[in-house]
Amino acid sequence: MIELTLTELAFFAIGLPMLLLVLLVLKERRRIRRRERQAARDRVVCRLCLSVFEATSRDPVQVCPDCGGSTDRGGARPLG
Ligand SMILES: [Zn+2]
Repeated sequence: MIELTLTELAFFAIGLPMLLLVLLVLKERRRIRRRERQAARDRVVCRLCLSVFEATSRDPVQVCPDCGGSTDRGGARPLG
């Protein structure tokens, strides 16, 4: 038979599950952050009509689905 003190029992019954829960939450937050970063990378803002759309290919130049204008994937840059 395993003998445990009350402190050890409390650690195994409460502390360990809480620690696992915290680790799972941290892992999930990292996954969500990674997914948001990926979505932001695929997001393109049309330089002509300012509509936001998702890049469909790895092409550096994307065609806006709203106005048909060509837009660089690299993000906004000064027009002048
Ligand atoms: Zn457009």
